[in-house]
Amino acid sequence: MTLMNKDYEIVMGLEIHAQLKTKTKLFSTSLTNFGAEPNTQANAVDLAMPGMLPVLNKQAVNFAIKFGLAIDAEIAEKSVFSRKNYFYPDLPKGYQTSQFDLPTVGVGKMDLMLEDGSTKTIRIERAHLEEDAGKSVHDLGSNAVTHVDLNRAGVPLLEIVSFPDFRTVEEVAAYVKKLRAIVQYIDICDGDMSQGSMRCDVNVSVRKKGEEKLGTRREIKNVNSIKNIIKAITYEANWQVDQIESGKKVNQETVLWDPDAGVTRSMRSKEDAHDYRYFPCPDILPLHISQEQIDEIRKDMPELPEQKKNRLMNDYGLSAYDADVLTSDKETADFYEEVLATGIDAKLCANWLIVELFAVLNKQELELSASPVSAKQLGELVSLIVDKTISGKIAKTVFEDMIETSKDPKVIVEEKGLVQITDTSAIEPIIDEVIASDLGQANAEKFRNGADRILGWFVGQVMQKTQGKANPAMVNEILREKLK
Ligand code: MN
Repeated sequence: MTLMNKDYEIVMGLEIHAQLKTKTKLFSTSLTNFGAEPNTQANAVDLAMPGMLPVLNKQAVNFAIKFGLAIDAEIAEKSVFSRKNYFYPDLPKGYQTSQFDLPTVGVGKMDLMLEDGSTKTIRIERAHLEEDAGKSVHDLGSNAVTHVDLNRAGVPLLEIVSFPDFRTVEEVAAYVKKLRAIVQYIDICDGDMSQGSMRCDVNVSVRKKGEEKLGTRREIKNVNSIKNIIKAITYEANWQVDQIESGKKVNQETVLWDPDAGVTRSMRSKEDAHDYRYFPCPDILPLHISQEQIDEIRKDMPELPEQKKNRLMNDYGLSAYDADVLTSDKETADFYEEVLATGIDAKLCANWLIVELFAVLNKQELELSASPVSAKQLGELVSLIVDKTISGKIAKTVFEDMIETSKDPKVIVEEKGLVQITDTSAIEPIIDEVIASDLGQANAEKFRNGADRILGWFVGQVMQKTQGKANPAMVNEILREKLK
């Protein structure tokens, strides 16, 4: 449990900024490449020089529509860009062009599956298009100067705002993961939180259980990983309960998570919408989206995580849990389908990926993309089990070798002579030998007198003599026949 004090509950809402994968900016032809030399990708429009006129990027609009369709949201027939006025050194325009009362994407929803198998639906209030601001780079060296890089100014963002429907950190984590999967599947954002292409703000408040009225919220800004989101919420919520319990007030504030100290720190008192003096941007006409445009995009919608999950369950008989794990991000889903292409048996492939490979990756703290075993190799290993070249047990030792050497499973099996013995004429003499031994004769007697469990001793002996290579099912069958 996240909260120490069980009389309280946490209420949370999320605002997630997803950076759209357009080639150019939201209102100009400047490029959006990541990591370019500072201030080489900003032009007069991005800086709102006098007389410049913004031109709306059609692809960004199409991406917003795509997202709206993915969360079953209404796409606004008319939406309006507004100016959000504020001063900041990295915002030479003096305002951010955003959407206020008429966002492009309206109310939608997302179904979550939690680790305990339960489900929850989160309502999404809106998703609006807006431009990013520049970036202040603080150089705290001997000169202690701040540089401003305007490459990011005008980069298109989709801000996805949820209703305050979250009650636990598990729900928040599941939502962020699912949202990341969706934007990756529909290919509108790379979802990379560490590079800032998906940024997460969490509004946190607490209240006594059973109370209707929402507590005062504080907003945790820009947390850059799911791990840190969970830590930040846990700290923040307990801090708020402590405040209230000790008779102090929680003020509406924006706070920053300090991952090193493990605390949230107040950054500024939180503004309300009216502080920004929003007004419709006079330079940009209202955006009209036709039904034809929506239908056109709907036609080309790729498979979504939820659909892929259902397909894996229906076509391959995977459990809801396995299917959920495999589709929870696009990289894993693609990897699994590649394993399946050579591995044939869907359930066996799922097991080897989820249980065996993920365990190794977790232990070595590796991303799937850095896996020492490729999808094709894992598939080949599974196919060797399926066609009975090796037993499941031998496969584990082959797998260990693969992790170490990155060699193909076939090469390892050949080099080490691990091919399963499925030839009865090879197995029978070994079985005869075991039965003919002194202990074998005694145990055969016991078996015939009804001690069925003694069969395991015989199987063990045969396996030992064949270094585990005899096909266990065949050994069992022949043994029963011979011991009759
Ligand atoms: Mn925003």
